[in-house]
Amino acid sequence: MENENIRNFVIIAHIDHGKSTLADRMLELTGTVESRRMRPQYLDQMDLERERGITIKMAPVRMRWKQGSADSEYILNLIDTPGHSDFSYEVSRALAAVEGAILLVDVTKGIQAQTLSNYRQAKASGLTVIGAVNKVDLPGTDPERAAKSLADLLGTSPDKIFRISGKTGQGVPELLAAVVSEIPPPRPKNEIPRALIFDSLYDDHKGILAYVRSVAGDFRAGEEIILAATGTKLKIKEVGYFTPQLQATERLRPAEIGYIATGLKEPALVKIGDTVLGASKTAQDSPSEYALPGYKEPAPVVFISFYPDEDTEFDDLKKSLERLRLADAALSFEPDSNEALGRGLKAGFLGKLHFEIVAARLTREFNLHFLTSFPSIAYRVVEKGRSRIVKDAHDFPDDPDKVFQPMISVELLAPAKYLSGLMSLSQTFDLGISAVKSIDGDNVLLSGAMPLAELIRDFDDQLKSFSAGYASFSYEFAGEAEADVDKLEILIAGEVTSALTRIVYKKDVEREGRATVEKLKKLLPAQQFPQALQARSRGRIIARETIPALKKKLGDFGKNGGDRTRKMKLWQKQKRGKEKLLSLASGPAAAGRVVISADVFREILKK
Ligand code: GDP
Ligand code: MG
Repeated sequence: MENENIRNFVIIAHIDHGKSTLADRMLELTGTVESRRMRPQYLDQMDLERERGITIKMAPVRMRWKQGSADSEYILNLIDTPGHSDFSYEVSRALAAVEGAILLVDVTKGIQAQTLSNYRQAKASGLTVIGAVNKVDLPGTDPERAAKSLADLLGTSPDKIFRISGKTGQGVPELLAAVVSEIPPPRPKNEIPRALIFDSLYDDHKGILAYVRSVAGDFRAGEEIILAATGTKLKIKEVGYFTPQLQATERLRPAEIGYIATGLKEPALVKIGDTVLGASKTAQDSPSEYALPGYKEPAPVVFISFYPDEDTEFDDLKKSLERLRLADAALSFEPDSNEALGRGLKAGFLGKLHFEIVAARLTREFNLHFLTSFPSIAYRVVEKGRSRIVKDAHDFPDDPDKVFQPMISVELLAPAKYLSGLMSLSQTFDLGISAVKSIDGDNVLLSGAMPLAELIRDFDDQLKSFSAGYASFSYEFAGEAEADVDKLEILIAGEVTSALTRIVYKKDVEREGRATVEKLKKLLPAQQFPQALQARSRGRIIARETIPALKKKLGDFGKNGGDRTRKMKLWQKQKRGKEKLLSLASGPAAAGRVVISADVFREILKK
């Protein structure tokens, strides 16, 4: 059988436990990457990945490995995965593309939240899991203890757990030998050619590349295929393997991992999780019938608007987002506008890290400057018996019948001494704890449900600071629950400033409304006329401040010196015309116009 010498596997672990570094040693040992070209975390090719030390994009690589008798060579297809929960859908597709997984645990950290969720996912995908304790080169650590915990988790004995160092390479040849001996070879099915798309990449010359795992049959350049989800029919431009660079080959063999160059330019057509079908008569008649299970549309859950700032142009921002979307099918955006900040784009993200990565790339790779709005999530609003999704706070009705919000189920893992801190944190973030378990000696595992909106407030930062960095968490989406929220609007001189409109918990409406008008009072410059600042919810004014009219003499700062100086500074800045300004028509009674600068927005949008 030609598949007997193939092994397909992933490395999974909590962030920073050493996946990409272990992959480096494998690339070296197998001679896949020449040692003079080797650099740390070789598979992290993106600048941002290298700088932040995280894997954002999963990276497949095909390695040749000799073992046993001189002529037995194995093909090892490895996929290095990103560890963060925001990307768990992609990881789940990678798991569906392989037969085995190496589960790494950093000896200095022990089992963490994503160790558990990754392991569960791997089991659910029916994978053979090999456990390894990593970083044993570090002095003063206890590999035996870590191996025991990992063995308990895997339901095996500690002597089955590998002790390795991705840094020095200690134990890695033995681990590769175990990949060959313990992970079963793929068993391609004997049916119409099918392949799972587990990732995709935009290529200027070859069009979109579908990263695939062939489940049945082989694929060659020039052959016709069908993409099941969209029914798109096309001729394959090229097939190849990852070395990890793209290496064209004559055919992609059954059960192997490689790429299919589609020639398509529209990313929405090549969807992660979709199935590539050989264009036989049967497949053409009903492509969806032959689709592999588990396909999901990427569902953005966090929405944030970008407004060009300083000398950035709207069109540049739009083009750059389009460019990023080519390699990131989960990114979506649509036009948006704001009184003070002008034209912008509202983008949808899989989570907060996803947003941070996109924002960082816009700044670094495209040299753009922009402001971002409050993050918002999609609520389902029932009004007069009809249900609709509201992504934008200013589309939110004043008095809905019912509101539902997306929920996540969360697992927190931390040393037991932080338990009381975590309990109080869970109250701040509206996390309903449903179970507390002691695991792995002196760790506790808390599970519960939390509104997604709470995660977006700085839950992860606070969790880290509450536990001196020892607590970890993972989450997954878990349906929706009724939400006790209202719309909060801010009016300046009688006009709603829609960029400041937010959805907040009923219990927080008064406090947040008051805080915002007080902040605005400090920040907005006085005018020739008095300006009313109001917070409104459910049609009722809940907080009010007034900025008195400017005294005649401009040099007279009155008693409140410091405050006025600050306002004057802002005012001067506005006059320089550096910031984007737009006048708001004020109410008929007012004798002038209100100007809100980007600076004021920046201050207000800070939490
Ligand atoms: P990933 O997030 O799981 O891909 O982890 P990385 O491979 O990026 O490694 C995270 C950090 O741990 C990096 O600073 C690595 O240099 C370090 N690291 C990884 N493996 C080892 C190891 O075996 N020993 C030591 N001392 N450090 C390691
Ligand atoms: Mg990595």
